Amino acid sequence: MVKFVFVTGGVLSSVGKGILTSSIGKLLQSRGFKVTVVKIDPYVNVDAGTMNPYMHGEVYVTDDGGETDLDLGWYERFLDLNLKTENNLTTGMVYKAVIEKERRGDFLGRCVQIVPHVTNEIKHRIRSVAKNSDVDVVLTEVGGTVGDIESLPFLEAIRQMRLEEGYENTLYVHVALVPVLDVTKEMKTKPLQHSVNELRRIGVQPDIIVARSPEMIDDESRRKIALFGTIPEDAVFCSYNVETIYKVPLILDEQGMGDFVCKRFGFSECKKDFKEWSKFVDAILKPEHEVKIALVGKYAGLSDSYVSMNEALRHAGAACKTKVCINYFEAEQLEQNPETAKILNGFDGIFIPYGFGPRGTEGKVAAIQYARENDLPFLGICYGFQLAVVEFARHVCGLKDANSTEINPNSPYPVIDLMPEQRGIELKGATMRLGAHKIIVKHDTMAFKLYACEEIYERHRHRFEVNLDFMETLQKNGMVFSGKSTDGRRMEILELPDRYFFFASQFHGEFKSRPGRPDPEYYGFIRACLDRKLGKPKPEFK
Ligand code: GLN
Repeated sequence: MVKFVFVTGGVLSSVGKGILTSSIGKLLQSRGFKVTVVKIDPYVNVDAGTMNPYMHGEVYVTDDGGETDLDLGWYERFLDLNLKTENNLTTGMVYKAVIEKERRGDFLGRCVQIVPHVTNEIKHRIRSVAKNSDVDVVLTEVGGTVGDIESLPFLEAIRQMRLEEGYENTLYVHVALVPVLDVTKEMKTKPLQHSVNELRRIGVQPDIIVARSPEMIDDESRRKIALFGTIPEDAVFCSYNVETIYKVPLILDEQGMGDFVCKRFGFSECKKDFKEWSKFVDAILKPEHEVKIALVGKYAGLSDSYVSMNEALRHAGAACKTKVCINYFEAEQLEQNPETAKILNGFDGIFIPYGFGPRGTEGKVAAIQYARENDLPFLGICYGFQLAVVEFARHVCGLKDANSTEINPNSPYPVIDLMPEQRGIELKGATMRLGAHKIIVKHDTMAFKLYACEEIYERHRHRFEVNLDFMETLQKNGMVFSGKSTDGRRMEILELPDRYFFFASQFHGEFKSRPGRPDPEYYGFIRACLDRKLGKPKPEFK
């Protein structure tokens, strides 16, 4: 029988529900249990694809082309899973399905209601993830904060699941903020108590309460949380601030959370193994070197917009025993700025992330030019790849005003253009080229050394691509396309062999990067940044 863990959050958003959910998964996984995760997003959008990263953080892309909440990225990274579109549930998705059923006449003339029709759809979707994934435990994180109007149908659905699945197969975990007052240094559990009450008002009594606080909770706070939450003291845990979030499973396990959950589910005692995980955490915490990266992007004000990229850079850093310091630059700042060279001077590498629309693109082109001309290690992802082609076309091939038609539809040299199948598409949702596609890697290239493989599968999210009309010019001038789609018509990887490390990809390697198993392009970049800093010759990646 599959077990279900439900994680809710209180007091305010961003209390780390995603990390907590991933960590509980890790505690179970480290004891040999198979887990999967469902993220519920109570917003009315059908998926995260049309949401602005500046407001909501990055859009995560799954292998099957789902555009999902960034928490799926945390689950994949912590639990080394490859999730699917079905692992993210939104209000929009659920209502769309219910309304489509109603239009088809599936409800046979009945009045369609939130309870039972919407709640049934929610339960059905959680259960079908359980069925499709052959796991011992399904963890479901309910996004938002308890008390929000939007999350009510979801909370009602998980409340019903206890009745239907049984007490021994369901576990409710509630996490809420326990602030420490600046002046008196006192820990305050009252907001948490209120959010537990709010949850109970809906009919859910938590089995575990996690206090999210800057430091470990004291005995008095633990006692109060247990008393007012109506749970034993050993069901109260604390997620306090740690140097790296990858440490959270370890601190929760130290407090006995893994054993508590297993006992509660009646799992027979089994040995836990955190060896690999601890090794990775150690590598993050005890670096021997440091590199400074300039990330030039359009959403630099919110680091969550680049969360998978940040983490992929860190995974690569850990593999090189190197601390990666990322400085975020608003690309617009570097546009026609005579100080660009001064600003970028002193960095060990330049990183250009994904992006959309014209704003800031000239600043990114300037940063790429600086990297190429000063032979600084460069990694470009998606828009970063496309703009590297633009920069090269303009400044090496002499194609003045070369551009992407996304930026200038009237460019005399549209080196990046809309993919043919994208022409005529008007709807914005789920219409890009999405998800994992096969790529053929060319022998005797940097890409081949990094991937050590002829065929790779990488995730995509784009509408534009290299215009084949300019291939000859670009190649004649020294740009090598070392990865292509299976039909050879889509450029996927570029490199400049005469540079120390100049590498870019149309795909997003960061989505497949895992702790202890960094993505090859990110690894290559950080290795190159470090080697160059240490005065070593160009890395060979053998
Ligand atoms: N805007 C570009 C495109 O649509 C790049 C997208 C991206 O960086 N993910 O092709």
